[in-house]
This record gives sequence, structure tokens and C-alpha cells, in this order.
Amino acid sequence: MSAATTGPAAGDPLAALRAAAQARTEARAASKAAHAARRAENARPKRSADELRAIVERGRRELHGRGTPGVPDGDHPEATAEQVVAWAVREFGDSIAVACSMADAVLPHVVARQAPWVDVLFLETGYHFPETSGTRDAVEQQMEVTIVDVLPRLTVAQQDEAHGKDLWSRDPAACCAMRKVEPLTRTLGEYEVWVTGVRRDEAPTRTGTPLVTWDEKNGLVKINPLAAWSFDDLLGYAADHQVILNPLLNDGYPSIGCAPCTRRVAPGEDPRAGRWAGLDKTECGLHV
Ligand code: SF4
Repeated sequence: MSAATTGPAAGDPLAALRAAAQARTEARAASKAAHAARRAENARPKRSADELRAIVERGRRELHGRGTPGVPDGDHPEATAEQVVAWAVREFGDSIAVACSMADAVLPHVVARQAPWVDVLFLETGYHFPETSGTRDAVEQQMEVTIVDVLPRLTVAQQDEAHGKDLWSRDPAACCAMRKVEPLTRTLGEYEVWVTGVRRDEAPTRTGTPLVTWDEKNGLVKINPLAAWSFDDLLGYAADHQVILNPLLNDGYPSIGCAPCTRRVAPGEDPRAGRWAGLDKTECGLHV
């Protein structure tokens, strides 16, 4: 019998709900603290680039199957997203960073099922849609993940002062370099592997995405467990597991970036056509 049915909240449905919510909050906090303590106890120095590259080679042999774009043919099927994550947890323990743009929380969900309280990196550029910031907050409040806000060195106001207002409209490459690429590279230095939600079907530049690779630019392992998924697979997983989605996904934004650089796309249009529309730019520099 719960405390709510025997204690002061008995007979008061609202008080019972409040007590249940409080108990859930306390259980989450205790679980998170226990994880943090375990993680601190097991902390070890980051392994060398050569050691990590050897792990990548092992991963390529274990995870990639016959017909994987850009990878020599193996003699087994390509690993599933769950198998890729299981491999990462075995190889890297807690030194895992999950990148999430908060278009949806599918990738954090897939990883956190096997690595509760895993770090989820959110690039806080200062230019997000309110819906994206709301999704970030909902993920932090409802899921067993640890949100890490990755901040640029300059606030938007400081950047305006140093480089002129709305740099994104004149030089989006420089703006992305300062607000996304540099902060992410700086943060990834603490980890051995990062996990991305890049899918092969997203853009012609992404058709060769491997499940596991060495990220030369950032000096760590990169895995893409959802590489083989379609957008429908993603939505299907979200529906099956009641995963949080950014409301903009259902409002004409199949790909969501910073507000000034993202527009709605028409039905049937390339899903990434709304990113930096009218410019030559198709990637922010994180995955190239
Ligand atoms: Fe700047 Fe636009 Fe890049 Fe965001 S997407 S960092 S606003 S250029």
C-alpha cells in the first residue's frame, strides 16, 4: 500500500498525485546521483588515439555487414542500432557522448535504454526555436539522460558586438564555426566516443555514413547507430516507445536547426531543403 493511500494524502486525489510526483522526482534524483557516484569511481584517463583506432577496426569487423556503403564486405548482416549501442557500452563504458539537436529524442532513448544517464550534448547556440528549447527541457525532465549544454565562447550579444549583428545572414559558415563546431570539438575532447543520429537517407552527403568510424577532426570514435534507418523508421520508433518529438516536426520542419537558418519545406521537398535555404551551405560542419 502506497504512502499516498495511508498518509495525509489519503482521500485527497490531488494530494495523492502530488505525493506520487514527488516520489518519482526523488527516485530520479537518487538514481542520477548513484550513477554519477559510480561514474566518478570508475573514471579513467582517455585512451590514446592509436588504442581508439584499434577499437574502431574491431567495431568495423563486428558491426558492418555485407553491402555497407564505403566498407569492405563482411560476411554477416549489418548490426542493428541496439547492437551498435551494446557494442559501444561494452567498449567505452561511461565515456559516451550522445549528440542531440532536439528535433526528437529517439537517439537519446535508444542509447539510454542500455546506458542510463548517458551524457546528451545539446548545442546551445542561442538561436533555437522555442519549441526546440522546450523539447530539450522535456527530455531533461522525463528521460534518464544527463543533458550537457554545449555553449559557444561568445553569447549572441557578444558575437553581435564583435562581428556585427546577424552574422548568420552574411557568413553562416563563420557563425556555425563559432556557435557549433568549436564548442562541440572542445567538449568532445573529454570523451572516447560520440554517438550521432545521422542517417544515410537524410542527404546525398550522408549516403556513405558508416556505423562506426574514426573522427579524425575531433580525435575520437564516432558511431551512427541509426545510419540505416529511414525517417519512417524514426517516427515508428518514436510512436512505439512514446518518445518526445519536437512539435515542429509535424509543422513542416523535417530537419530542425537554428531558427534564422531553418524554414518550412513543402510536401515532397528534400527534407534538408529548409536548412540554409538559398545558400550553398548544406551542413553546419559537425559531420563533414
Ligand atoms: Fe549561426 Fe545559423 Fe549556424 Fe545557427 S545554423 S550557428 S544561427 S549560421
